[in-house]
Amino acid sequence: VLPGSTDTAGQRATLGVVGGGQLGRMFVHAAQRLGYFTAVLEPDAQSPAGLVSHHHIRTSYDDPAGLAQLAQLCQAITTEFENVPAQALHLLAQTRAVAPSAAVVGIAQNRIEEKAHFAACADVSGVNCAPYTVIETPAQLQAVQEERTDLLPGILKTARMGYDGKGQVRVKTATELGAAWEELGGVACVLEKMLPLKAECSVLVARGWDGQIVSFAPQRNVHVEGILAVTHAYEGNMPPALADRARDAAISIAHHLGYVGVLCVEFFVVEDGTEHGGLVVNEMAPRPHNSGHYTLNACDASQFDLQVHAMAGLPLPQPRQHSPAIMLNLLGEVWFDADGLPREPDWCSVLRLPGTHLHLYGKLQARAGRKMGHLTITGPDVASVTSVARRAAGLLG
Ligand code: ADP
Ligand code: MG
Repeated sequence: VLPGSTDTAGQRATLGVVGGGQLGRMFVHAAQRLGYFTAVLEPDAQSPAGLVSHHHIRTSYDDPAGLAQLAQLCQAITTEFENVPAQALHLLAQTRAVAPSAAVVGIAQNRIEEKAHFAACADVSGVNCAPYTVIETPAQLQAVQEERTDLLPGILKTARMGYDGKGQVRVKTATELGAAWEELGGVACVLEKMLPLKAECSVLVARGWDGQIVSFAPQRNVHVEGILAVTHAYEGNMPPALADRARDAAISIAHHLGYVGVLCVEFFVVEDGTEHGGLVVNEMAPRPHNSGHYTLNACDASQFDLQVHAMAGLPLPQPRQHSPAIMLNLLGEVWFDADGLPREPDWCSVLRLPGTHLHLYGKLQARAGRKMGHLTITGPDVASVTSVARRAAGLLG
């Protein structure tokens, strides 16, 4: 799909996205910069992406009429959050270029399949996931309670629909495990051994229809209560040998999937000398990712630019980071003071700090834990970026 082109019927080259959140919004911005028209499929009338798109189809993600309209408008279609029904992408793919494919999105939507994929390519990727087992039935639960105490303390995670730390419970004993499985509704789960994390990092790669692959350097991520809080993106953010291994692993995972589009692979860094050799693969997101938002300001091509290029079949530029960066997530809490009263953050003080780039997603209601925006800090060196990030965090309290 060439940017800015029109077909014989006079229709403009249009890229579509299923889902209307902030990732969709930043994708739309990137597509529009290249002259594409955009279409968003999203039921919410006030969605971050729907508000900025040329077309907004307001139906549920699996509505056949909505999907037909999306296919009619667009030459290529992507998704912006992984819980879009894989079936919807499958349907769209019958007539349109869809990236990533329904098959790989389906794998990433299910922790059981996802871990099986990681295990299947562990020989090539050189990393494995944390020790785990699957619990789908009361009999399996009982067997695990009796025979797999090596996985305790652990984390019980639902196979489906988990994100931002939701759908998981930390358990110390077999009894707690039983209670946790009940609490999660007795659905299919994985029990994962709790690892002593030294750090967490993620790698973004983009792969084209022709198998060409480009990647960003690994980011180091700090999570608070299961939600990403801070991303450190600069040379020296982690030991170089580990960074190289993580990047190579993400690339081989994407190749092994036959992936097309932007893929984010999340890793744990654990004590060296363990069976994992310092690096453990955690999960993957079949889309641009919160930990890659810094690329908008610190790199010559962002993760959203690469998503546009990959799905439209354009050449993929190897991105170059031109500045160290720290990204601070702006969660709903920032819009409330210490007494829990609503407040407007002091943006002018924040923007007075050098190298601050504010991104707000246009969400009207601030709620605790809700991703309202992010702030990226760029600068000449890591020390100044770190110092500005500290002051900005102080102002946002
Ligand atoms: P989500 O889909 O919610 O992002 P994750 O599996 O990435 O779920 O878990 C969220 C966070 O919980 C991780 O970023 C990490 O901080 C912590 N965590 C998850 N699994 C483990 C584990 N096996 N050992 C230690 N910490 C973990
Ligand atoms: Mg995660």
